[in-house]
Amino acid sequence: MTDLNQLKQNVIDIGRWVDSHHWCPATSGNLSARIDQQRILITVSGQAKGSLTADSLMEVGAEGKPYAAEQRPSAETLLHTLIYGHIPGARYVIHTHSVYGTVFSRVIWNGEIRFKNYEMQKAFAGVTSHEQEIVVPVYGNNQDMVALARQVNEYLAAGPQCPAFILAGHGVYTWGGSVAEAKRHSEALEFLLECEYKSCLLLK
Ligand SMILES: [Zn+2]
Repeated sequence: MTDLNQLKQNVIDIGRWVDSHHWCPATSGNLSARIDQQRILITVSGQAKGSLTADSLMEVGAEGKPYAAEQRPSAETLLHTLIYGHIPGARYVIHTHSVYGTVFSRVIWNGEIRFKNYEMQKAFAGVTSHEQEIVVPVYGNNQDMVALARQVNEYLAAGPQCPAFILAGHGVYTWGGSVAEAKRHSEALEFLLECEYKSCLLLK
C-alpha cells in the first residue's frame, strides 16, 4: 500500500526539480504518480511546478475522471492514464515543455527522433550500449486530446523500447518505476535532445 502523503511529497519534489531546470515554464507541463491500479495523482491545471503543495494535486480514476467534481485536471490527463494503463511498471510520469523538447521537435512533425552513439543512452532502463539505436516517436501536436491519445495509444500498446514520446512543438513525456528512474529518463532525454540540436548546428 502506497503512502499517499509520501506520494504527494514525491510529486512536489519532482515539481521543484523540473522547475530548477526551467523545463515547465509558465505553469506548463504536468506531473503524476500512480496510487494504485484504479487511481493516479496528477497536478491540477495551471499550477506553477516549482511551488506545488498538496492542494495542487488531485486524484483521478484510470479513465482520467476526477474524484472531486470541483477540481479540474490537466487537459493532458488522458495521456498520463494511457501510460499507466499500458505500462505496468510506470509509477511516475513527467511531462515537460522544455526548450529543446519543443524546438527540436518542430522540424520533425509526425515522425521519430533516433539517437545512436551517445553514452547517455544507457540512462534508459534496458539499454546497455551506445551502439543500440534509441527511437522516440514524435506526434503532431493537437488540442484534441482524444485524437492525440489515439495515436499515442498504439505506440504504448506495442511496448515502447524507450520510455518516452514527444509532442511536436510542445514537449516531452517520460516515465519510470521510481522517482529516481523517472527523473533519470527525463534528464537523459532532455540531454540527448540538446545534443542533437547542437550537433545539427555544428553540422550545418
Ligand atoms: Zn503539455
